[in-house]
Amino acid sequence: MKVLVADDDATSRVLLKAMASKLGHDVLVASDGESAWKLMLGSDIDVLLTDWMMPGVDGPELCRRVRHEIKDHYTYVVIVTGLADPAQILEGMGAGADDYLVKPVNSLDVQTLFVAAERVTRLHRQLQRVRAQLEEANLELLGRSLTDSLTNLGNRRRMEEDLLRVHARSLRSGRSYSVAMFDIDYFKFYNDHYGHPTGDEALCKVAACLNRVLREGECIYRYGGEEFLLVMPDCGEDDAVAAAERALHAVSILNIPHVARPSAPPVITLSAGVAMHTPESEDTIHELIERADQALYAAKLSGRNRVRTNVAAFPDTTSSVTAPV
Ligand code: GH3
Ligand code: MG
Ligand code: MG
Repeated sequence: MKVLVADDDATSRVLLKAMASKLGHDVLVASDGESAWKLMLGSDIDVLLTDWMMPGVDGPELCRRVRHEIKDHYTYVVIVTGLADPAQILEGMGAGADDYLVKPVNSLDVQTLFVAAERVTRLHRQLQRVRAQLEEANLELLGRSLTDSLTNLGNRRRMEEDLLRVHARSLRSGRSYSVAMFDIDYFKFYNDHYGHPTGDEALCKVAACLNRVLREGECIYRYGGEEFLLVMPDCGEDDAVAAAERALHAVSILNIPHVARPSAPPVITLSAGVAMHTPESEDTIHELIERADQALYAAKLSGRNRVRTNVAAFPDTTSSVTAPV
């Protein structure tokens, strides 16, 4: 183990160092509390043997610092006192020491001390490993609970959490943001013709494609079924429409055959509805998505494979943006 002996008395220092080295430990020494503290910070010390009285930082203070500030590595701390004074011993233990030694120290005390130190530090290392594994598992679970298992895109829950942040930021900054709702055209026919497993594959390809065309700061989520929502922070309507059109184009040139649809082209295409949130509109997130959905519905009604917008100031109007390809 890596041991630090902190003692302002040279004789005690040399003696403790000799005893610990003889037991096969790697021993550093410090002649005052402050330099001991520096050594504590610079290396992973397993056992600290500290004198009670030292100039500057004394034993109990050194002990408190170790307990409060060194979190990633457990150090077994032993206070070495000149007197077997119960009040002093209890104060040292209260400051965070694991054990105490009374001077003059004998070799049996030092040997037993290292047996206990080895056991305790090993347990702490195991505990740390288990804690790290638990934290990792928790992170993974959290990630999974926010991810759609088929497409690997963020799911509805992640979308709702992210939208709350984007919405709040828009209110703070006074800048607009936009959303686009995408829906695969005639997907029921696709499933009926090619089978549900092939439908799943197509959904994954479309999702991956939408994910590829994202710009920095944007995020795409599986809204449900064959619907996806693109969130575009700090983005006005024109830019949002251009982004939605790029996405439609990217999916159409995947050329995923769809011969069962009633209208051309014979490949999978998307329709999209775009809606913009302006900070002064007082629209809720729910109302914004509702408007995107209405615009999507208009895109479907007017022939599919196109983008429509729904302008907040004129909630009843949907404006045509793209012609079918
Ligand atoms: P429209 O152009 O009007 O959107 O027509 P549509 O057929 O795409 O729309 P509709 O809402 O009638 O059907 C949606 C289809 O999407 C039906 C459902 O089976 C399919 N779908 C939804 N989720 C999944 C999924 O996870 N996997 C597969 N394979 N199909 C899905
Ligand atoms: Mg559809
Ligand atoms: Mg749908």
